[in-house]
Amino acid sequence: MSESFHTGGCLCGAVRYEVTGPLRPVIACHCTQCRKTSGHHVAATSARRDSVTIFGEVTWYASSDYARRGFCGTCGANLFWDGPGANLSIFAGTLDAPSGVVLSAHIYCDDKGDYYEIDEALPRAGGFDPTLTTMVG
Ligand SMILES: [Zn+2]
Ligand SMILES: [Zn+2]
Repeated sequence: MSESFHTGGCLCGAVRYEVTGPLRPVIACHCTQCRKTSGHHVAATSARRDSVTIFGEVTWYASSDYARRGFCGTCGANLFWDGPGANLSIFAGTLDAPSGVVLSAHIYCDDKGDYYEIDEALPRAGGFDPTLTTMVG
């Protein structure tokens, strides 16, 4: 966990954000949606939605009936996954360094691409795992 102030943004700089609360450890998601939107698997941290301030215009795509994904409409950066609950997932690659967070687990491993292996010695879940994804701080 990381308690300090964090900033991040997209490649072109049109969207920036600040996080004033703690960040969850980073979880890699190998689900088909994450692979299709990112080009590989994603790695996301998470913060309470009310601790995140977004500057600039995010383009939202409803990727399911319960969640939407936030992109930069200019450079296409994957920034956010906004689903049920009080937290907003933030794709870790968009954090400014030092992020203070560490990749800690993999989820939806059953849906991973067939062109790579998950070879890290980290916890894995075949699908969703609320013990991995909902904790913050
Ligand atoms: Zn951008
Ligand atoms: Zn996913």
